[in-house]
Amino acid sequence: MIVVMEHRASQETVDAVITRLEQLGFDTHLSVGVERTIIGAIGQKRPEYIEQLGAMAGVERIVPILQPFKLAGREFHAEPSQVQVGAVTIGGDELVMMAGPCAVESEAQLIEIARDIKAAGAHMLRGGAFKPRTSPYSFQGLEEEGLRILATAREETGLPVVTEIVNPRDVELVVQYADMLQIGARNMQNFTLLREVGRSRKPVLLKRGLSATVEEWLMAAEYIISSGNDQVVLCERGIRTYETGTRNTLDLSAVPAVKHYSHLPIIVDPSHGTGRWRYVTPMAKAAVAAGADGLMVEVHCRPEEALSDGAQSLTPENFRELMQAIKSVAEAVGRRSGLSTIEV
Ligand code: PEP
Ligand code: MN
Repeated sequence: MIVVMEHRASQETVDAVITRLEQLGFDTHLSVGVERTIIGAIGQKRPEYIEQLGAMAGVERIVPILQPFKLAGREFHAEPSQVQVGAVTIGGDELVMMAGPCAVESEAQLIEIARDIKAAGAHMLRGGAFKPRTSPYSFQGLEEEGLRILATAREETGLPVVTEIVNPRDVELVVQYADMLQIGARNMQNFTLLREVGRSRKPVLLKRGLSATVEEWLMAAEYIISSGNDQVVLCERGIRTYETGTRNTLDLSAVPAVKHYSHLPIIVDPSHGTGRWRYVTPMAKAAVAAGADGLMVEVHCRPEEALSDGAQSLTPENFRELMQAIKSVAEAVGRRSGLSTIEV
């Protein structure tokens, strides 16, 4: 493992850590860098040692030497990365708001929503053309026609488009229309699909699997990056727990956990995370407070008529309220909400 010392750790704290490591039976290797001091420790690692050493003065973090997610991890890339989607920067000071319907249903439906969310301050338009539904009898999406409609909405509004891809064979098709490729929760460990989007040059939004640990999620990102595409953004969208009061359990602790382990930006989807529109804005505020780089929110002009996920969709008016509500939270945690840039 590697003990990474704090930026200005004193010589005494470094010596104390080395002494403790040697007491625990490790061979130590000191590396004093320009940025920080790192102590390599070779020996029998036990979980309690990591906790004990992590509590010592001057210790920033303990990293296993062979972190499984080498490319997605901070060990090899200490600084947070930013992902560029058209003119939108994800992972910078400004929160990135992605909004739109669960599914593209018609051109009129999408254009109406796209205009409304843009006026409310959204940066990107979401909408599914290929829908991975639990039931084969549910609406499956408009497929290529849906992609074409998304591209039309981009032309109308200037909003870059993020849309889900479910089949490795469709990468060539989807990259012609989309600005960002979404890997849905159900496909987080579809390794063929991950490799295929990794070979494309489009930014990828990788949603967390329904029962994936943070490590499994970062390993999925590793598949994409190791295939040649480092433009990856993670999206926490809730995990399966015993709780039935919400559709999923939105794991906001994943935000600081991901930020700790990885340099990749992370956004939060409180729509799938809760399954109920009334809970979306409170959890959006909490996500921003937890340090998310942006949000993905489902919006529909008539949720009661939506072909999918109406129960969790905000009306444009509710979305405007969400944008207002997160503004002060964003400011409190040193982020810009983007509202200031809207032309009135
Ligand atoms: C979606 O964003 O439309 C979607 C299907 O989400 P998830 O993959 O998180 O269920
Ligand atoms: Mn949905």
